[in-house]
Amino acid sequence: HLVKSAEFVKSSPKESDCPKDGLPEFALVGRSNVGKSSLINVLVNRKELAQTSKKPGKTQLINHYRINRNWYLVDLPGYGFAKAPTAVRTGWNEFTKGYFLNRKTLVAVLLLVDGSITPQKIDLDCADWLGRNKIPVTVVFTKCDRRKKQKNGGKPSEENVRDFEKQLQDSFDQCPPWIMTSSTTGQGKDELLHHVARLRDY
Ligand code: GDP
Repeated sequence: HLVKSAEFVKSSPKESDCPKDGLPEFALVGRSNVGKSSLINVLVNRKELAQTSKKPGKTQLINHYRINRNWYLVDLPGYGFAKAPTAVRTGWNEFTKGYFLNRKTLVAVLLLVDGSITPQKIDLDCADWLGRNKIPVTVVFTKCDRRKKQKNGGKPSEENVRDFEKQLQDSFDQCPPWIMTSSTTGQGKDELLHHVARLRDY
């Protein structure tokens, strides 16, 4: 196993409260329901590690998980809660932006995008903001096992990935790397962990 240990360390309300031991970290961000908790649990071979971040009150926090005692996987709040009051949404934006812009140990953002549907504006906007702020991004497509007809498209995930990539061209100097995953089949798990290891060793 590439992941030998995984432990929840802490939940932080803002960047300045995050762990200060200097370990490199990778932050997961994506629309709510994109499959973030499922992916975390698959990556670390655990059934319920990511449940922590779903407990009421923890959803607006930065959650740190230490992997193999030498790097952090960071679970950030999901965006796109259509029903959240404006104040909650704005608060989320400000503290998440603060984290992205100030966190020195952040190696890359793992931007989760649902690979089973056509590109969504909110995901493209998020990627665009990260790109323009020169924050390293890896796009991680989720649910790539899905083949059934969707309301908005029903295309195979390869096609959704290509469309998304095409629409990102103006946001980044260099097209960000991307990985196709599925928490149902385990597709992309080792590729993602190897990718993280490579970035960490730079
Ligand atoms: P989160 O809100 O981003 O943490 O998303 P969850 O991990 O709770 O997943 C949201 C929904 O998508 C659940 O119903 C999962 O069963 C489903 N889901 C998550 N990952 C996959 C996947 O890789 N394939 C399929 N087919 N469904 C998935």
